[in-house]
Amino acid sequence: MIKTDVLIIGAGPVGLFSAQQLGLIGLKAEIVDNLDKIGGQCIELYPDKPIYDIPGIPECTGEILTKNLIEQIKPFKTNIHLNERVQEVSKENKNWKIVTSKGKIFVAPNIIIAGGVGSFEPRKFPVKESEKFENNGVYYSVKDKNYFKNKKVCIFGGGDSALDWAIELSNFAEVILIHRRNEFRGTGHTVEIAKKLEKEGKLKIKTPFQIDSIEGQNKVKAITIKDDDGKSEKIATDCILGFFGLIMKLGPIAEWGLNLEKKHIPVNTENFQTNKEGIFAIGDICTYPGKLKLILSGFHEGALAARACFKFARPNEKYRFEFTTTSKSMHERLGIKKSD
Ligand SMILES: Cc1cc2nc3c(=O)[nH]c(=O)nc-3n(C[C@H](O)[C@H](O)[C@H](O)COP(=O)(O)OP(=O)(O)OC[C@H]3O[C@@H](n4cnc5c(N)ncnc54)[C@H](O)[C@@H]3O)c2cc1C
Repeated sequence: MIKTDVLIIGAGPVGLFSAQQLGLIGLKAEIVDNLDKIGGQCIELYPDKPIYDIPGIPECTGEILTKNLIEQIKPFKTNIHLNERVQEVSKENKNWKIVTSKGKIFVAPNIIIAGGVGSFEPRKFPVKESEKFENNGVYYSVKDKNYFKNKKVCIFGGGDSALDWAIELSNFAEVILIHRRNEFRGTGHTVEIAKKLEKEGKLKIKTPFQIDSIEGQNKVKAITIKDDDGKSEKIATDCILGFFGLIMKLGPIAEWGLNLEKKHIPVNTENFQTNKEGIFAIGDICTYPGKLKLILSGFHEGALAARACFKFARPNEKYRFEFTTTSKSMHERLGIKKSD
């Protein structure tokens, strides 16, 4: 069980910045995100695209913004728990008990929901057997590439993830890349490498095919693929990997008794508290009159929510407003040694 002052749901730009705001005022935070990487939409949807409306930064990519936000919270040693979805939230005396999909338990007087448009989840294989074999022969990401060594692997998808992993795994596995169209969506260079490997006999490519069924008792033994004319083919395989992109799901957030308005959480703009005391919502997931789904709005919301968390985390102390330029305690927390 992990005790903390604030549990932040979501490691997108807004969740990260709220951890900085909490750290500055001396509150400890833990962050949980369903994704395998930090940065939310910025890193998952547009890492290379330039952003032009972050105050004081004329231009930066989603990736650079994420790197800078991570750098900014370094002094606070905030733990970020990736690949875990917050499942359950319940009240325990004056605290909230938060349980993740991996069974990790957090106890905190405050929760900041910075869940964006919900948790990103992989689009899954459209055949019923895929659920039975999920994480046991059917995968949607590569956690450890060594697992696939010397195995027969069928990779589905037409984008960069499918192509990149087909190229990488073909170094040490028997790989077949399968896509429902003849053209791949991935970058030209990656497609060229895959085609070259196919010519050299190091990788097989089958198009236009889609999965039709999966066979096996305790583990995957074979799959059948079908083309648009109904022509089918059976392939013996140890595992299948699907890279069909991500979908966004509000997911378990809808089950926590919070008021919802069209899949968003209404908040009080004084402190960004929801209808539950000690639960705050900031960033794309919150709604109020005039809400703008911009990163800069989320930063402001995080600053106010962080101050409101102080009341529940330090009930016997009074919060004092200070500037980072002049506050000695903030400098200490940031690890800054001032000579004057
Ligand atoms: C293509 C594109 C371009 C954009 N350009 C700009 C721009 O130029 N300027 C601008 O200001 N904004 C831009 N935006 C919008 C901006 O990216 C969002 O406003 C911002 O990402 C919102 O940040 P957030 O932290 O609230 O949510 P997100 O970035 O969506 O992050 C939320 C995180 O919460 C996680 N999560 C959700 N539910 C759970 C759960 N139950 N358990 C664990 N984790 C969970 C998700 O996995 C996700 O990582 C753009 C968006 C897109 C798609």
